[in-house]
Amino acid sequence: MTAHLNLTGRVAVVTGASRGIGYFLARELAAAGAHVVAVARTIGGLEELDDEIKAEKALTGKGEATLVPLDLNDGPGVDRLGGAIHERWGKLDILVANAGILGVIAPIGHVEAKVFDRVIATNVTATWRLIRSVDPLLRLSDAGRAIVLSSGAAHSARAFWGPYAASKAAVEAMARSWADETKNLPLRINSVNPGATRTAMRALAMPGEDPQTLPHPSEIAKKIAPLASPTLTETGMIFDAASERFISYRMPE
Ligand code: NDP
Repeated sequence: MTAHLNLTGRVAVVTGASRGIGYFLARELAAAGAHVVAVARTIGGLEELDDEIKAEKALTGKGEATLVPLDLNDGPGVDRLGGAIHERWGKLDILVANAGILGVIAPIGHVEAKVFDRVIATNVTATWRLIRSVDPLLRLSDAGRAIVLSSGAAHSARAFWGPYAASKAAVEAMARSWADETKNLPLRINSVNPGATRTAMRALAMPGEDPQTLPHPSEIAKKIAPLASPTLTETGMIFDAASERFISYRMPE
């Protein structure tokens, strides 16, 4: 687990916590002492996460999970999440907006409208609605942190990845605007490019690739988790997990 990361007493929402990068990020944050509010649709994956967090707690005394089975495309459900967290904790310290879908890998002219709409709805609109739901709570934290999962596809020219690339460029731009709005607060907001990672989404995108050549999501989660640290200073940046460096795409005014 991530050394020196102390999140004792911190409350963290992690979306897409039922598998892949979100699952291991949730475990990292809990291992550092956070109470993780784990959001996804697959109850089995969330329960597995809960079991792992409980087992870790039995050894170290740290970490806890509250499971929230929720489809992030359920807008009113997302709106209610902020209220429920406020009622229970009165604040939110960490948001990991990780849930996402690939949609389809296809020439842009062959993408079905319903697939395009679904990718934008899940990756962009649901992320915006979640941000809107918890933004007031993050402002109440003395060290609010938001981590928004983007992708290299937001910047690189990648044939056939049109809907996904568009959605990631959009969330990244949104995170940057949000960071600028809050730059005078203790809130720190960054996007992350996790790089190619051994998950179900990557296998769907690259069926011919040997997954064993890719880093395990637990490795990537260890690199991303420090963005939740109360001591983090960067905001409005993109963290490139492969090089473990911050990149700024700010244009001169
Ligand atoms: P996975 O497909 O393994 O996991 C995606 C997660 O998102 C699952 O937990 C899934 O949960 C959740 N999710 C998807 N749709 C919804 C929904 N409507 N409501 C609630 N939860 C939802 O993906 P990865 O772990 O690979 O990806 C995580 C993030 O990292 C994504 O944003 C992805 O774009 C990004 N990324 C991944 C890369 C990679 O190589 N893996 C590279 C670059 C970026 P459930 O199905 O249970 O709802």
